[in-house]
Amino acid sequence: MDALLQDIVRQCRPYGALGKVANYIPELSKADPDKLGLCLIDSEGSMHCAGDWQDYFTMQSVIKTLILLLALMDSGIGRVRSLVGVEATGKPFDTFNYSDQALTGANINPMVNTGAIALCTLIHGETYGEKFRRLLELTRYLSGDDTLEVDEAVYRSEKATGNKNRALAYMLKAYGMVSDDADEILECYFRACSIKANCAALARIALVFAHHGRDVTTGEQRFAPIYARYVNATLMTCGMYDGSGEFALRGGFPAKSGVGGGIMGVVPGRMGIGVFAPALDKKGNSLAGVNALELLSEALELSVF
Ligand code: GLN
Repeated sequence: MDALLQDIVRQCRPYGALGKVANYIPELSKADPDKLGLCLIDSEGSMHCAGDWQDYFTMQSVIKTLILLLALMDSGIGRVRSLVGVEATGKPFDTFNYSDQALTGANINPMVNTGAIALCTLIHGETYGEKFRRLLELTRYLSGDDTLEVDEAVYRSEKATGNKNRALAYMLKAYGMVSDDADEILECYFRACSIKANCAALARIALVFAHHGRDVTTGEQRFAPIYARYVNATLMTCGMYDGSGEFALRGGFPAKSGVGGGIMGVVPGRMGIGVFAPALDKKGNSLAGVNALELLSEALELSVF
């Protein structure tokens, strides 16, 4: 297995030169496009890693998975479903082109920015600072990595330049979908996107989703199975933005990407995967990362289809 992962990293590293590191958040443009890390943990808890798997990067949209989970745990399926839908948008992750239809929950999902910003309101907490702290705690708990924290430079960079997300949050307010202060909601969202993780942390989180919310390494039930089903289904159809259909063909399992270059892959009943390569394709998914997952899927027959 270790030889397979090393071979995949060797084969896929050159894709770094063909993609583009995100630069709309200026701090992210400093990432090294040649980095590629891969980590998988199987149902027995055996971990296999290759390349730059220990490097930390900001989770960005990967955290939307846990924003959705915490909103479900705190507010229940009914409230989550009435605020955001589950259909793929077929639009980029940061689209604000909703002009062909009124903005309603049914036409956004938790994996695009609008949906994740809206879901921050369903996380419990007296203040948005507290909501964020609970999200960070959950991320640490599921990843088993107590050192996870915010990359302050990336956070400040996104906050300084995140006008599109600001527009989305105000649009949610304009359409009556959220009632809290838009800037406070965004504070939670920007901080959430800036949480740092590495491939091992993503693989451990994914492993829990792959086993109905149970941590197979300790036997502990970390969250209700029904939430794992909800989140995994949403990742399958929406996790790779408007590249989700293509990833269903190429990888064939639920996955969530982020513009930091991370992808978390959930292979139901089998394994959790974390991959990191910062150069992105046109849709904002890690180019080398998607290729690595495709090769891994072929080699280990990971497609659920
Ligand atoms: N923080 C990023 C943003 O809101 C997350 C987007 C992403 O990873 N696709 O623009």
